[in-house]
Amino acid sequence: MAHTKPVLAGNWKMNQGPTAANAYLDAFLAAHAARSDRTVILFPPALTFAAVHARLKERPDIRVGVQNVHAEEKGAFTGENSALIAADAGAAFVLVGHSERRHVFGETDVESAKKCAKVVEHGMTPVLCVGEKIEQREHGETEQVVLHQLLTGLSMLDHDAVREAIIAYEPVWAIGTGRTATPDDAANVHRVIRAALVELVGEGAQDIPILYGGSVTAANASALLSADQVDGLLVGGASLDPAGWAVICAAG
Ligand code: PEP
Repeated sequence: MAHTKPVLAGNWKMNQGPTAANAYLDAFLAAHAARSDRTVILFPPALTFAAVHARLKERPDIRVGVQNVHAEEKGAFTGENSALIAADAGAAFVLVGHSERRHVFGETDVESAKKCAKVVEHGMTPVLCVGEKIEQREHGETEQVVLHQLLTGLSMLDHDAVREAIIAYEPVWAIGTGRTATPDDAANVHRVIRAALVELVGEGAQDIPILYGGSVTAANASALLSADQVDGLLVGGASLDPAGWAVICAAG
């Protein structure tokens, strides 16, 4: 159960250009009235960001972020975007270390740490994603993997910045697979993450939102959100349907 305001974050991944995003927002904004008891964040693709950001000027209750930044500030990195650019464009949040970045693009924990530092330096909030692969879970390595990703990813932030960050636990075996962790599975790992955060920065860590992600749907969102230490949801596929996403944004 969330002890802070729940955070509902939609990761569109590589879906929806500016035209599709505007049609999506027509439907979603009509279905989801502004509420002060939760934080809703959308993560569109980089080239769609400006259209979504401009459109959401009429709905400041919905926040917007980017799915990735490069760890460097600027330079010869063709095709990339930096935290400096994301902040200038109006992003408030940045996904860091999403499992697809780690496992499709080979990003390391150290790169996640550098990215978190750049995101904070530019006044945005990192959403640091951590999670084990199925073989790691089967070998009993979940805690070790998750804690290594967590503590390395946060290692370049001072304690105040850690207290302002968001963590997302996303077991790799549950992302885009239709295989969701049970509320108990999620709670067990969230408790481990919470304990590590408290050890790192003290009791202020109780307010750090820890989101669950991995095949969340309109049907399972409320049960997952009710689990111990689950403060919100990071949703991929199911955030692409505006009606279903509106149901998830009303969960709890
Ligand atoms: C994600 O992209 O962060 C995610 C959890 O995806 P899905 O909801 O599709 O499993």
